[in-house]
Amino acid sequence: MTDNLNIILLGAPGSGKGTQSKYLCETYNLAHISTGNLFRLNMKNNTELGKLAKTYIDKGDLVPDDVTINMVREQLAMLENGMGTLFDGFPRNTAQADALTPLLDDMSRSLNGTIHFKVDDEVIVGRLSGRLVCKECEVPFHTTFNPFQTCPANKCSNGEYLYQREDDQPETVRARLRVYHKQTEPLIEYYSNKDLLTEIDGTGGLDVIQSRLVGAVDNLK
Ligand code: AMP
Repeated sequence: MTDNLNIILLGAPGSGKGTQSKYLCETYNLAHISTGNLFRLNMKNNTELGKLAKTYIDKGDLVPDDVTINMVREQLAMLENGMGTLFDGFPRNTAQADALTPLLDDMSRSLNGTIHFKVDDEVIVGRLSGRLVCKECEVPFHTTFNPFQTCPANKCSNGEYLYQREDDQPETVRARLRVYHKQTEPLIEYYSNKDLLTEIDGTGGLDVIQSRLVGAVDNLK
């Protein structure tokens, strides 16, 4: 039974959440709710939300909670029946985590668990400096660890839409890591206290990380 699994992926920027999301969503029939991707889509389309988000994202700061929570509420309202959810990059602080519970309650859903990708800062900096993202489908690749081979979303033939995210520049990466340690890391204890935390080693090859993740998700069913 894989219907209606509701899972949070927690981890620093570059810890591998986005890379593993596509596989998890396909395998467990989950809707991918990535707040970072949603903000970038709005920035690309130059919407009011996108213009506002950009002022925070460019500095490595968090977009205000009310804006972010409203965006997630709208995404949840569009969910197909029987589909679970994979939250990637949300919640990012305890206020957002507090807001998520009633949002799920209202839909008669509950959180199955939170999976924390454990990765040291030095590894993160190396990963983000070589990360390239597809402008069309937001799938992340890496110049060394995960070079472009084929487009999983069939949007391009030879990676012509790959670009480096502006917020992957070294100075912004340092700011994002500071924000992560200060605001997001407390969620590890928050979900651990609720008995909703699983930790996995987020280092190693993509296949190895994927099988750790599948083991963790299977335990949540
Ligand atoms: P990500 O793609 O998850 O690394 O997110 C990129 C940027 O979008 C972050 O550095 C934040 O500025 C913003 N962002 C993404 N998710 C959130 C969130 N849940 N709350 C506030 N800001 C967010």
